Amino acid sequence: MPELTLLLPSDPRANYLAHRGEIDQAIGRVLEKGRYILGEEAVAFEQEFARYMGLREAVGVGNGTDALHVALRACGVGPGDAVLTVSHTAVATVAATELAGATPVLVDIDPATYTLSPQHLADTLAAMVSRRTASAPRPKAVIPVHLYGHPADLPAILDIARRYELYVVEDCAQSHGATLQGRKTGTWGNLAAFSFYPTKNLGALGDGGAVATDDPRLGERVRLLREYGWRERYISELAGLNTRLDELQAAILRVKLRYLDRENARRRELARIYDAALSGTRLVTPVQATGAEHVYHQYIVRTGRRDDLRAFLKDHAVGTLIHYPVPVHLQPAYRGRIALGDGGLPYTERAATEIVSLPMYPELTDAQVEHVGELMARWDGQK
Ligand SMILES: *Cc1c(COP(=O)(O)O)cnc(C)c1O
Repeated sequence: MPELTLLLPSDPRANYLAHRGEIDQAIGRVLEKGRYILGEEAVAFEQEFARYMGLREAVGVGNGTDALHVALRACGVGPGDAVLTVSHTAVATVAATELAGATPVLVDIDPATYTLSPQHLADTLAAMVSRRTASAPRPKAVIPVHLYGHPADLPAILDIARRYELYVVEDCAQSHGATLQGRKTGTWGNLAAFSFYPTKNLGALGDGGAVATDDPRLGERVRLLREYGWRERYISELAGLNTRLDELQAAILRVKLRYLDRENARRRELARIYDAALSGTRLVTPVQATGAEHVYHQYIVRTGRRDDLRAFLKDHAVGTLIHYPVPVHLQPAYRGRIALGDGGLPYTERAATEIVSLPMYPELTDAQVEHVGELMARWDGQK
């Protein structure tokens, strides 16, 4: 029976195999050329990615966490500054804030889209400003995370950021190509941070990341910060770090970037198959806010009987994951020492107990997704 091989929740190897000829050729080209860090491939990828984004600058870095870190540093964020973001995210968002020396303040999500709640952001900022003591961190930036590939409510968040004079750094690690009102995520804020971790919608075959911006001054600062603050080799103008995109990953990303829109469209087709299969069930399926085009980095369902659903699917050789099982503020490294928005994070904490990520990657067949949908409808009917 075909069900006997486990259907994986994500499968970067399938994407490699889909583009194997071109990727192998690109790798061979780099190996032959003999330049392995920040050479022609990195420059070409940066230009192509900037063009894809419709922005003036894209700067390749070592991974998505560093992309967030150097984007914050480029804004001058550091010790004494507060950065507002969510707890319902990859730990990287909060880790990058602390790497920059700043203090994270975590706000709740909108339970429908799983992205930063503008209302809770505004309430939290109002409370921070009215109660602020001389030693308290000053609000300096906000990081909306376009979690699962769904755009955060950027118009509302930008409006609040303007009122409080905050920089906006978009966490686009899961939203390559997603749009809101026809405009790409990553083009709304001051800077956008991308990860090219292998399972992301645009994934390398190793680590990679980028910072994109339309502001040449910020772009220049990112470019200096990613390599020891060098404009001229061996002369540090800024105290920077080493977070470079290597030539092999850049060459691979150049191949994969050409397929990104097509693969996002395929993810949307698969999401429609899940939506149809689950429409008569009690499972809560993902929404798309008005004007938002989701890119389904993950397809998330919600149920109060998550463990039972996961066990049932596993028995039928369907793998699932949880993104993320424990909100950042409840993890051992952060618990009890991270500032939370007013009233705590009830929607975040509840979502973490109910969400399940179903298999989602562009190489899945219609039949595979129909099969998972039928299994879930059957599970729901037995309850
Ligand atoms: C993957 C991810 C990151 C970090 O990217 P790395 O390349 O793994 O460092 C940051 N934010 C979010 C939301 C992510 O999903």
